[in-house]
Amino acid sequence: MVENTDLRKAGLKVTLPRLKILQLLDSAEHRHMSAEDVYKSLMDAGEDVGLATVYRVLTQFESAGLVVRHNFDGGHAVFELDDGGHHDHMVCVDDGEVIEFVDAEIERRQREIVSEHGFELVDHNLVLYVRRKS
Ligand SMILES: [Zn+2]
Repeated sequence: MVENTDLRKAGLKVTLPRLKILQLLDSAEHRHMSAEDVYKSLMDAGEDVGLATVYRVLTQFESAGLVVRHNFDGGHAVFELDDGGHHDHMVCVDDGEVIEFVDAEIERRQREIVSEHGFELVDHNLVLYVRRKS
Protein backbone atom coordinates (compact mmCIF):
# COMPACT_ATOMS: atom_id res chain seq x y z
CA MET A 1 0.00 0.00 0.00
CA VAL A 2 1.38 3.38 -0.95
CA GLU A 3 1.58 6.04 1.71
CA ASN A 4 2.08 9.78 2.03
CA THR A 5 5.67 8.97 2.92
CA ASP A 6 6.27 7.58 -0.59
CA LEU A 7 5.45 11.02 -2.01
CA ARG A 8 7.59 12.80 0.55
CA LYS A 9 10.50 10.43 -0.03
CA ALA A 10 10.25 11.34 -3.74
CA GLY A 11 10.46 15.01 -2.76
CA LEU A 12 6.82 15.75 -3.62
CA LYS A 13 4.33 17.53 -1.43
CA VAL A 14 1.34 15.38 -0.56
CA THR A 15 -1.70 16.57 -2.49
CA LEU A 16 -4.98 14.74 -2.94
CA PRO A 17 -4.59 14.22 -6.74
CA ARG A 18 -1.05 12.90 -6.27
CA LEU A 19 -2.15 10.52 -3.55
CA LYS A 20 -5.19 9.29 -5.51
CA ILE A 21 -3.12 8.66 -8.65
CA LEU A 22 -0.36 6.92 -6.72
CA GLN A 23 -2.88 4.67 -4.96
CA LEU A 24 -4.56 3.89 -8.27
CA LEU A 25 -1.28 2.89 -9.92
CA ASP A 26 -0.48 0.74 -6.91
CA SER A 27 -3.81 -1.07 -6.75
CA ALA A 28 -4.82 -1.24 -10.41
CA GLU A 29 -5.45 -4.59 -11.99
CA HIS A 30 -3.35 -3.52 -14.98
CA ARG A 31 0.10 -2.31 -13.96
CA HIS A 32 0.55 -0.29 -17.14
CA MET A 33 -1.84 2.60 -17.58
CA SER A 34 -2.07 5.52 -19.96
CA ALA A 35 -3.00 8.96 -18.65
CA GLU A 36 -6.46 8.40 -20.15
CA ASP A 37 -6.78 5.06 -18.31
CA VAL A 38 -5.88 6.78 -15.04
CA TYR A 39 -8.33 9.59 -15.73
CA LYS A 40 -11.18 7.17 -16.54
CA SER A 41 -10.50 5.00 -13.49
CA LEU A 42 -10.57 8.06 -11.23
CA MET A 43 -13.83 9.22 -12.81
CA ASP A 44 -15.35 5.75 -12.36
CA ALA A 45 -14.32 5.91 -8.70
CA GLY A 46 -16.08 9.26 -8.36
CA GLU A 47 -12.85 11.24 -8.01
CA ASP A 48 -12.87 14.72 -9.50
CA VAL A 49 -9.40 14.95 -11.06
CA GLY A 50 -9.06 16.53 -14.51
CA LEU A 51 -7.11 14.99 -17.38
CA ALA A 52 -4.63 17.90 -17.42
CA THR A 53 -3.90 17.26 -13.74
CA VAL A 54 -3.43 13.54 -14.42
CA TYR A 55 -0.87 14.35 -17.15
CA ARG A 56 0.93 16.82 -14.91
CA VAL A 57 1.06 14.48 -11.91
CA LEU A 58 2.27 11.53 -14.01
CA THR A 59 5.06 13.70 -15.45
CA GLN A 60 6.01 14.82 -11.94
CA PHE A 61 6.03 11.18 -10.80
CA GLU A 62 8.27 10.30 -13.72
CA SER A 63 10.73 13.09 -12.90
CA ALA A 64 10.72 12.01 -9.26
CA GLY A 65 11.48 8.39 -10.21
CA LEU A 66 8.20 7.05 -8.85
CA VAL A 67 6.94 5.82 -12.20
CA VAL A 68 8.44 4.69 -15.49
CA ARG A 69 6.99 5.89 -18.78
CA HIS A 70 6.92 3.54 -21.75
CA ASN A 71 6.36 4.83 -25.27
CA PHE A 72 5.28 1.63 -26.97
CA ASP A 73 4.64 1.79 -30.71
CA GLY A 74 1.12 2.39 -31.89
CA GLY A 75 -0.39 3.61 -28.66
CA HIS A 76 -0.36 6.18 -25.90
CA ALA A 77 2.50 6.35 -23.44
CA VAL A 78 1.81 4.07 -20.49
CA PHE A 79 3.05 4.47 -16.95
CA GLU A 80 3.86 1.94 -14.25
CA LEU A 81 5.12 2.22 -10.71
CA ASP A 82 8.89 1.77 -10.59
CA ASP A 83 9.41 -1.12 -8.21
CA GLY A 84 13.14 -1.13 -8.92
CA GLY A 85 13.07 -4.57 -10.51
CA HIS A 86 13.85 -5.27 -14.15
CA HIS A 87 11.39 -6.78 -16.58
CA ASP A 88 10.69 -6.68 -20.29
CA HIS A 89 7.39 -6.23 -22.06
CA MET A 90 5.18 -7.74 -24.74
CA VAL A 91 2.52 -5.52 -26.26
CA CYS A 92 -0.48 -6.99 -28.07
CA VAL A 93 -0.82 -5.19 -31.41
CA ASP A 94 -4.58 -5.86 -31.45
CA ASP A 95 -5.69 -4.45 -28.10
CA GLY A 96 -2.57 -2.90 -26.58
CA GLU A 97 -2.49 -5.27 -23.61
CA VAL A 98 0.93 -5.18 -21.92
CA ILE A 99 2.44 -8.40 -20.58
CA GLU A 100 5.58 -8.43 -18.45
CA PHE A 101 8.22 -11.12 -18.60
CA VAL A 102 11.76 -11.86 -17.49
CA ASP A 103 13.87 -14.50 -19.18
CA ALA A 104 17.25 -15.33 -17.67
CA GLU A 105 18.52 -16.73 -20.98
CA ILE A 106 17.68 -13.53 -22.89
CA GLU A 107 19.27 -11.41 -20.16
CA ARG A 108 22.43 -13.54 -20.27
CA ARG A 109 22.64 -13.54 -24.09
CA GLN A 110 22.28 -9.75 -24.24
CA ARG A 111 25.21 -9.31 -21.85
CA GLU A 112 27.28 -11.77 -23.90
CA ILE A 113 26.52 -10.04 -27.20
CA VAL A 114 27.35 -6.64 -25.75
CA SER A 115 30.58 -8.05 -24.31
CA GLU A 116 31.52 -9.59 -27.68
CA HIS A 117 31.33 -6.05 -29.09
CA GLY A 118 33.68 -4.79 -26.37
CA PHE A 119 31.04 -3.13 -24.20
CA GLU A 120 29.29 -3.73 -20.93
CA LEU A 121 25.54 -3.52 -20.68
CA VAL A 122 24.24 -0.42 -18.92
CA ASP A 123 20.54 -0.79 -19.51
CA HIS A 124 18.12 -2.25 -21.99
CA ASN A 125 14.53 -2.10 -22.97
CA LEU A 126 13.09 -5.07 -24.84
CA VAL A 127 9.59 -4.85 -26.28
CA LEU A 128 8.02 -7.69 -28.24
CA TYR A 129 5.00 -6.82 -30.34
CA VAL A 130 2.70 -9.81 -30.29
CA ARG A 131 -0.66 -11.15 -31.40
CA ARG A 132 -2.71 -13.88 -29.76
CA LYS A 133 -2.54 -17.21 -31.55
CA SER A 134 -5.72 -17.86 -33.44
ZN1 LIG B 1 6.16 -3.28 -16.80
